[in-house]
Amino acid sequence: MIIEIKYKKLICEIGKRVYDKGFIAANDGNISVRIDEDEFLITPTNVSKGFLTPDMIIKVDSAGNVLEGDYKPTSEIKMHLLVYHERPDVHAVLHVHPPYATAFAIAGIPLNQAIMPEAVVSLGTIPLAHYGTPSTDEVPKAVKTHVHDYQGVLLENHGALTWGKNLEQAYNLMESLEFTAKINWISRLLKGDRELSKENVAKLLDLKAMMGVDGISPKGVDVPEGTHAKKVTSVNEQTLSERDINLIVDRVTTSVLNALNK
Ligand SMILES: [Zn+2]
Repeated sequence: MIIEIKYKKLICEIGKRVYDKGFIAANDGNISVRIDEDEFLITPTNVSKGFLTPDMIIKVDSAGNVLEGDYKPTSEIKMHLLVYHERPDVHAVLHVHPPYATAFAIAGIPLNQAIMPEAVVSLGTIPLAHYGTPSTDEVPKAVKTHVHDYQGVLLENHGALTWGKNLEQAYNLMESLEFTAKINWISRLLKGDRELSKENVAKLLDLKAMMGVDGISPKGVDVPEGTHAKKVTSVNEQTLSERDINLIVDRVTTSVLNALNK
């Protein structure tokens, strides 16, 4: 019960964050968290996600039946449940309409250009899921095509969807996705959306694998002397915290940028 309240509060906090960031307007967007194998917390329909309170969050089962709550769940519930069904490792799903990413989704352009080391390492490619009428089975069907191979998708003529091992990760991926779309858009205006070479992308992916950015051991990483660096090298086979992983991503990015500037 305490854990449920914690997640309900977190959903409200992330709702406020996506609203404040301008990722949604009016009553748009939806957020969910897996709290048990067959139990999920999800946001209600027709309510601003910027002003949610914990009592508005609904508990549903994997078939979408309401178990607890007075509100009606989001009409996009099938899209969330599809992700959980296909990916047992996923514990949070976030859907919003961030303007730059949504503009790419409307133009039918996936975010598949390797333009920035950070995006290559932490976000990866974001494909375009074919258009489906919201709330119908068309949307989960389109998402299913990509859900096993990526960390999120652009929903054609609609918005963006990310998923993660927790809600903070799903949110960070969305923020990163929108930031990448914005930079991509600006560089296109400058007619300079130059991609990293295949060789440099391969180097990034090698470093990513070696440093265990996906949560594996950072074994073999040459981390410099520093406040947190020693801790990272010494944890070896232990589970890395999200902060450690972020530090490793930063370290990879810096190394690659230095190499590129030589
Ligand atoms: Zn939407």
